Amino acid sequence: MERQQILDRYEWRPGTCFRHPSKGEVQTAHVKTIRPRVGPEEEVRACEDCVVQMEQERWVEAGRNGVDYQPGHAGETLL
Ligand SMILES: [Zn+2]
Repeated sequence: MERQQILDRYEWRPGTCFRHPSKGEVQTAHVKTIRPRVGPEEEVRACEDCVVQMEQERWVEAGRNGVDYQPGHAGETLL
């Protein structure tokens, strides 16, 4: 899977990467929603590098478990 093909699966807008908050505002995609028991829902956003890395991890994990890999769900659990 090419980097650009992965990136095309996401909608990008400026935000803060959950792994790289020190980078400040970068292009980010929504990868997960955290629903705390109390308080408002929290959106987890990741930068391009992190999304690609998360997708690669999913791809490896899918291969290991013999399940189909579908890009575009970086923050969801695979199994
Ligand atoms: Zn990042």
